[in-house]
Amino acid sequence: MPGPSLAFQRLVGFPLAPLRLAVILAFFAALSCAATPEAPQLKLDDNAVPRRYTLNLTLVPGHDTFSGSVEIDLRVDKPSQLVWLNSQDLTIASVLWLTSAGRLTPSLTPEHHGFIGLQFDRPVSGEATLRLQFTGKVGLHSNAGIFALTEDGETYIYSMFETSDARRAFPCFDQPEFKTPWRITLHVPDSASAFANSPQESQEPENGGMKAVHFRESKPLPSYLVAFAAGRFETVDAGHVGPVPLRIIVPRGHSAAAGFAAKALPELLALEVKYFGRPFPYDKLDSLVMPISGFAMENAGLITYSQGLLLADPSGDTISRQRECALVAAHEMAHQWFGDLVTMRWWDDVWLNEAFATWMERKITGEWKPEWRIDVVGAESRLESMDLDSLVSARRIVQPIESESDIANAFDDITYEKGSAVLRMFEHYAGPDQFRRGVQFYLQRYEWGAATTQDFLAAVSEGAGIDIAPAFRTFLDRTGVPLVTMQLDCAAAQPVLHLSQKRSLPIGAPPAEPQTWRIPLSIRYSGGAAPRTFATLLASSHADVTLPATGCPAWLLGNNGADGYYRVRYGGDLLTRLLAPGGPALSVAERVSELGNALALVDTGDLPPSAALAFVPEFSKDPANEVVQQAMDIAGMLKGPDVPASLRPAAGRFISDVFGATAEHLGWNGRTGDNDDTRLLRRKLVPFVAEEGHDRKLIDAAESLARRWLNDRSAVDPEMVQPVLEVAARFGNRDLWDMVHNQALAEKDPAIQERLLGALGSFGDPSLAQASLDLLLTHEFDARETFRPLLFGPLDNPNTWDLPFAFVTAHIDQLLQGLPREVGDDYASELPATADNFCDPSRRRQVDDFFRDRVKSYSGGERTFLQTLETIDGCIARKKVLAPGFSRFLARY
Ligand SMILES: [Zn+2]
Repeated sequence: MPGPSLAFQRLVGFPLAPLRLAVILAFFAALSCAATPEAPQLKLDDNAVPRRYTLNLTLVPGHDTFSGSVEIDLRVDKPSQLVWLNSQDLTIASVLWLTSAGRLTPSLTPEHHGFIGLQFDRPVSGEATLRLQFTGKVGLHSNAGIFALTEDGETYIYSMFETSDARRAFPCFDQPEFKTPWRITLHVPDSASAFANSPQESQEPENGGMKAVHFRESKPLPSYLVAFAAGRFETVDAGHVGPVPLRIIVPRGHSAAAGFAAKALPELLALEVKYFGRPFPYDKLDSLVMPISGFAMENAGLITYSQGLLLADPSGDTISRQRECALVAAHEMAHQWFGDLVTMRWWDDVWLNEAFATWMERKITGEWKPEWRIDVVGAESRLESMDLDSLVSARRIVQPIESESDIANAFDDITYEKGSAVLRMFEHYAGPDQFRRGVQFYLQRYEWGAATTQDFLAAVSEGAGIDIAPAFRTFLDRTGVPLVTMQLDCAAAQPVLHLSQKRSLPIGAPPAEPQTWRIPLSIRYSGGAAPRTFATLLASSHADVTLPATGCPAWLLGNNGADGYYRVRYGGDLLTRLLAPGGPALSVAERVSELGNALALVDTGDLPPSAALAFVPEFSKDPANEVVQQAMDIAGMLKGPDVPASLRPAAGRFISDVFGATAEHLGWNGRTGDNDDTRLLRRKLVPFVAEEGHDRKLIDAAESLARRWLNDRSAVDPEMVQPVLEVAARFGNRDLWDMVHNQALAEKDPAIQERLLGALGSFGDPSLAQASLDLLLTHEFDARETFRPLLFGPLDNPNTWDLPFAFVTAHIDQLLQGLPREVGDDYASELPATADNFCDPSRRRQVDDFFRDRVKSYSGGERTFLQTLETIDGCIARKKVLAPGFSRFLARY
């Protein structure tokens, strides 16, 4: 709500003489006497700074309210009659201001967008203690603030505060820069156990079957990293790393499923301690399991994970799940240093947390299990983030935060994946040991405090011995992917490489302003007995470099090591020479990177579709499953919404021609002696051929296996349960829908329920897909579990990809009522993506008309809406340009 002066200016709309204006404003101020002062926008000022919190909370699982008191020791710098802090949806029963001079009882302004003001009769300043008593509601349908989850009839209480939800649990100064010690006491039923960031110090019985559990005072923490839990949990010992004890805390009856995590977590943590060259920052590390899917949070000393990530019944565990578990755990544990020990000052620098933890999760998991080839995951994720970064509506890594929507948008793939790819590029540019020394400087210098991007770049430059900031900044402060053209010129005695750069833009994008990056290029080329490498920083739009070689290189790789955040357009026949049979030896990550690069060049109009498709047969037989996946992605472009529907049958024949024999040989079930590559390839390739190649034998086998699995959970290789169910659903009938639906309702294990919901979202018969969408309007399931699989699942299939948008437009109000709507976790912001497969101007208009005004009230929605419009525009433009090429290629199938 704007203050009176703002509202007035907008109302009159013409300039007033200053004196008259002042008189009128005074009149308005008098009218609204003791008017509510204007609350801060988004951020508190730093006039009042918290120094220490003492927090008491009464948490009773099963009760839908909680109560508490908080004492905040603080300092007010400039004398002020008004002190702002954060509080949201809390009822405050009392407030006291205590100083050495006595006590005051300030009055409270009404809560406004998460802010409350303490109003004093006279200015206050200096040291004081603020004491508040309050009550609040336990969330039953959202994961923000203090909330409850139920598993096997038992209720557990959890907390989740990132980014701005600590204020829903207690009044506080809810900004990352304010780091203080916290002394927490939880009052819980006798039968429950209680956990917080620090180890338990003592406990004592209280009246009414309750007890008070006191926790040791914490190290300095921002409010968003405070965490606690209460309920009848079980605890699994996961050993020690140095003096630090590790535990896995699970819902009752699930201890046996924590075996893998209890072994993996301490080993991964020990590798991180070694990398950082300093001990784990906190006194203990608990890993707390929540019966919910797709969730993890790096609370200091008390990391929370969704159940399917951390736990698995040993008989049903899979290699994919174990990889996911290790990666996510390495990520959250890396945050204990990056984010927790040193915190970003404000959310515009959240990449310091998230890009770093993403980069670290791969480094550490790769070191722990080299056979998992985690470096390839980095190359795959970089390719995906480049697609997002190619949109004109993409964010920058360091994007100013001007609204709550900007905070919500900050947790996207640009922050996580582009950020980590850029870190990786500069790690290689600086040298891994030098980079690591810089990281260690940074942690030493800012430990227990807050820091900025500039602080990080300065520390890393110092460690590296070169100033990397100017080059690094070109990737942080602007959007877009550089496209580097490399043209080899062998006219002279020594070969010359002509280099140029511009922004890589998809077909149909509006022309962009010329921009240049400072790009660390790493190039490898043939040169006599062994390949040679060459590194340079390309800082201008054009450059010619003389390659140290005699004679013309037979081949040249433009992104050596697959570490560079840029695309390469090869001049002449360099690309064919690089990827042709009998070409040079490339690592798995390099093969993935080059095939992904070729696919991206089709989207930018720099490579004809047939040239990229020509690589598919050769790489469909690659020994590495990740490379076959890239070949599948290139073939998969023939199934996109930009391909005329009349070409789909021929596209299916091409896919089945190239991949069919391998898929049929692999079959749906694993065999003893299969290695990880074979198991992971089966999981990707067999459903692809069944669905996109319409392989009847594989489809029938999936249907019969799915029906067997619904009666007997051991009938299908655990690795293959999800693809079997999804393919069966895609071609399945009403009878199968009923069975899957009934079992999803009855299923207690969240990991299995997730697979059943995935199947419900995959039905290809439009009336059954509609029946699944309609479940979003009932209260049969928790909306947090059904929203993504049921609403977005139909987008994978041309028969059903129109349905989600039609469903959203028909039921928008009812749908919104059931969804979590917190800032940073507003499910409504994802709704525009239901139109991502539209590819014609009239549909685009419908999307624009429907969402343009609505997204203004969805936190983060305006940007996702613009991205959807741009995706549709790109599709319309590609359809025009590429369709002739697709037709020509498919003419022989
Ligand atoms: Zn993270």
